[in-house]
Amino acid sequence: MKKIIVAIDGFSSTGKSTLAKQLAKQLGYVYVDTGAMYRAVALFAMQNNCIGVDFLDKGKLVDSLPFIKLNFKFNPELGFAEMYLNDVNVETEIRTLEVSNYVSKVAEISEVRAKLVEQQQEMGKEKGIIMDGRDIGTVVFPKAELKIFMTAGADTRAQRRFDELQAKGDAVTYEEVLKNVVDRDYVDTHREDSPLVMAEDAIEIDNSYLNRKEQFDVVLELINDVIEAE
Ligand code: C5P
Repeated sequence: MKKIIVAIDGFSSTGKSTLAKQLAKQLGYVYVDTGAMYRAVALFAMQNNCIGVDFLDKGKLVDSLPFIKLNFKFNPELGFAEMYLNDVNVETEIRTLEVSNYVSKVAEISEVRAKLVEQQQEMGKEKGIIMDGRDIGTVVFPKAELKIFMTAGADTRAQRRFDELQAKGDAVTYEEVLKNVVDRDYVDTHREDSPLVMAEDAIEIDNSYLNRKEQFDVVLELINDVIEAE
C-alpha cells in the first residue's frame, strides 16, 4: 500500500500529538513531534544561560547550534519515541510550563528553524510519517498528501493542558496555563519566519466538541481516502 505524509498543524494544546500518536500506531507509520524538538532547544538554552526571564542571548544560542544533538528513540513500553538532547532523555523536562514559557521565543529564531526543518525533512524522506507542529504543511512538507489543521477554543485547550499538568503533579494554576496558551498562539502566529497559518489545502478540524474517538475516526477516514486515491 502506498505510504503518504500526513502533516498536522494547529494551535497549542489542540491534542495534535495525541491524535498523531494514535494514527501512527494504527497505520504502522512513524510519528514525529516537532514541538518536542523546539522544546529541547529551549531546554538547552535554559541550561546554558542563553535565555531567562528577562533576556535572550540569540547570538550565543545560534553559535551553540552545532553542539545541540536531537534524536528520537522509540520506547516500546510507551509505544512512542522519546526526545533525547545530546543523548539524554529529556521527555519529562521539556513538558514543564517553564519550557512552554520560553519555547516560542526560541522558535522565532530563523537559524534554529533551519536546523530543525532540515532534520524533519530528512525524517520524512521515506514517507509513512505523521508529523505534527506549526509549519509542517506550509514549510516542512508543502507537498504532503494530507494536511490537517486543528483548532479549538483557548479555554478548552487551556483546561486540557491544565488537567494534564495537574495529573503529573505540576503546581500550576489554570490562569497561568491559559496565559501561556494565549501568549504562545500570539508569538507563533505573528513571527516573521514560518508563522503558524493554515495551509490553503489543509482540512480544518475544530475539536472543541469532538471526543478523541470521534476525531480519530474522522481523520483516519480522510487518510484512507487519500491512500486509496493515490
Ligand atoms: O507542539 P508544542 O506545543 O509542543 O510546541 C511547542 C512550541 O514549539 C510551539 O508553541 C511553537 O513555538 C514551537 N513550534 C514551532 N514549529 C513547530 C513545532 C513547534 O515553532 N513545527
